Amino acid sequence: MPIVVEHLTYTYGQGTPFEVRALDDINLHIGDKEFLGIIGQTGSGKSTLIQHLNGLIKATEGRVLVNGIDLTDKSANLRIVRQSVGLVFQYPEHQLFEETIYKDVAFGPKNLGLPDEKVKERVHEALELVGLDANTMVDRSPFELSGGQMRRVAIAGVLAMQPQILILDEPTAGLDPRGRDEILDQLVSLHERKSMTVVLVSHSMEEIARVATRLIVMHDGKIIVQGSPREVFTDAQRLRSIGLGVPQVAELMQALQQRGYQVPPVALTVGEARQAILGLSAKGAGGR
Ligand code: ADP
Ligand code: MG
Repeated sequence: MPIVVEHLTYTYGQGTPFEVRALDDINLHIGDKEFLGIIGQTGSGKSTLIQHLNGLIKATEGRVLVNGIDLTDKSANLRIVRQSVGLVFQYPEHQLFEETIYKDVAFGPKNLGLPDEKVKERVHEALELVGLDANTMVDRSPFELSGGQMRRVAIAGVLAMQPQILILDEPTAGLDPRGRDEILDQLVSLHERKSMTVVLVSHSMEEIARVATRLIVMHDGKIIVQGSPREVFTDAQRLRSIGLGVPQVAELMQALQQRGYQVPPVALTVGEARQAILGLSAKGAGGR
């Protein structure tokens, strides 16, 4: 179920004195089973872009195709598209409202008109997918949970629709490191075990380096760099020029290289950096 974005331009408040061109000629292809990271400073257009991918916002110019369905076409069946493209907004826990976790997660599948037994199956499965024990959780109020757990309940509500593509807008924002790692690990597992296409919006290079297979970097409504994390982080200069860093481990490799040590130009994880540095001392390179 590929997504194709062609020459997408979007202007807020078009024709008013407050016009803002939020997206400027975006071209993008998201293939099946990709784990795409979208990164960029606040205001670069990330949220506006992803809201086009399930038809929440209509293009000012250009087209968005989901599995061949043109969302800019007035007759497009957006109901079908929204079932297959699940969108998790920023701070999704603000949208929890039912008195039990069960009812919150069941909301979507119930609206699909599924029988109770099927709804129950989906609720349990979705909660397990986000690492929550359905049996002990379903009757509790979502408002008794920690911030990270509330967010996972909200994500479960989207997963209960069984989308093929899961898009998340800064799902780790405001969480402590543990809450953040739990969500990232679950996304990796959804991608691997459920073969789900995942699109993750983030402003943290560190987290996106860990999980994404491909990255796009946005700046001022445009995609300015794209490629594998390794390719993207090689151009550290460019990233710094738009106020983004590279992950600390990548920076470490670059600092070592500048001092004449023979290490790879980019490391994506601490483990990889460690390997490179251990390799150095084995070779005795650098001469210090
Ligand atoms: P990001 O998610 O990368 O922070 P956004 O897509 O939210 O970026 O915003 C892109 C641009 O569009 C920014 O200049 C922002 O101020 C503007 N913008 C976003 N939402 C609205 C809105 N509802 N009305 C007017 N301008 C908006
Ligand atoms: Mg945003």
